Amino acid sequence: MDTKAFKRTLQHSENYNRKGFGHQAEVANQLESEYQSSLIQEIRDRNYTLQRGDVTIRLAQAFGFCWGVERAVAMAYETRQHFPAEKIWITNEIIHNPAVNQRMQEMEVEFVPVEAGKKDFTVVATGDVVILPAFGASVQEMQILHDKGCKIVDTTCPWVSKVWNTVEKHKKVDYTSIIHGKYKHEETVATSSFAGKYLIVLNLQEAEYVANYILNGGNRDEFLTKFAKACSVGFDPDQDLARVGIANQTTMLKGETEKIGKLFEHTMMQKYGPTELNQHFQSFNTICDATQERQDAMLELVQDDLDLMVVIGGFNSSNTTQLQQIAAEKGIHSYHIDSVGRIKSGNSIEHRQLNGELVITENWLPDGEIIVGITSGASTPDKVVEDVIEKIFVEKAKVILV
Ligand code: SF4
Repeated sequence: MDTKAFKRTLQHSENYNRKGFGHQAEVANQLESEYQSSLIQEIRDRNYTLQRGDVTIRLAQAFGFCWGVERAVAMAYETRQHFPAEKIWITNEIIHNPAVNQRMQEMEVEFVPVEAGKKDFTVVATGDVVILPAFGASVQEMQILHDKGCKIVDTTCPWVSKVWNTVEKHKKVDYTSIIHGKYKHEETVATSSFAGKYLIVLNLQEAEYVANYILNGGNRDEFLTKFAKACSVGFDPDQDLARVGIANQTTMLKGETEKIGKLFEHTMMQKYGPTELNQHFQSFNTICDATQERQDAMLELVQDDLDLMVVIGGFNSSNTTQLQQIAAEKGIHSYHIDSVGRIKSGNSIEHRQLNGELVITENWLPDGEIIVGITSGASTPDKVVEDVIEKIFVEKAKVILV
């Protein structure tokens, strides 16, 4: 498919909207009352610190809702306002936050059902309204919806679209896109649908494996098995790694994306020489500012003398996991939770570990004075952060009484 031509057609269609419907003012109050928090504002005003009893909260200086997510949520509310009676669908969670997704369901905005790992678009009818989430949708999904005559409300974050444009540029000059991301993540699925030849690397280790193959060759079958789910159809490592461009899932660790970019730049320079580099390597900066700011704030926060960290965000939120990784690398006890309900009475907490396992830790709040670091992923409203902080104060007060 000529994805570029398709996108142009879609964007000129009267059934397509990516700018909202002019109801910003009407939904603003609703959004503020449901997602904003006066306590969080107070903590911001107090230099990101709040002390109550023997708990000191230190909040990261950048956390929570990014503008891309805020924009997507506002557009979804506007969509309901604009189409009060129409059937409205979302192709996926609008963002990775259970509270926000719950609100969508209360507003009768339904998820396209998934049957045996595949989305079932047969339930979506001509004239229905379909919202594409902040991290986008694959070009194939867009085409199905366009062909059906649905009204498409595209909330894809412009930063994500920027990555799509980058892989289109690679495709135009027949370069392979090396995408730093998780091959199952919806954003990366969407990005790869716009790419020509592509290879998805999860981390620096996988990138080094590929770089080594470029320089020294290797076991082709092993390569293809390793990346079986993470490359384009018919990918040939002996042919398709001669010219590469870098792209990324916008929520990966920015330091790692930069290292991967540098690694391939050096690899191509070593293999083809500096004068030929531009014929074999392309890189554009597609790291999202919001992700970068949150990671930088986290790196600063973990310099403090923290007793523990609570990282708040959806369990399938990639940028939240990256924040927890920073705490783990610093050796700080950190607890990734997706809602206040994970903090139980009796000093116990249910949390997700970096390996994805959900575990319960007892006596997680130590006795005596403690400093607790708090941050949240880009899809977490301030209201959720407030609830968690209040619950920590309440539970810690009980620890003293024991
Ligand atoms: S994290 Fe960045 S790319 Fe993702 S929605 Fe927010 S602003 Fe956009």
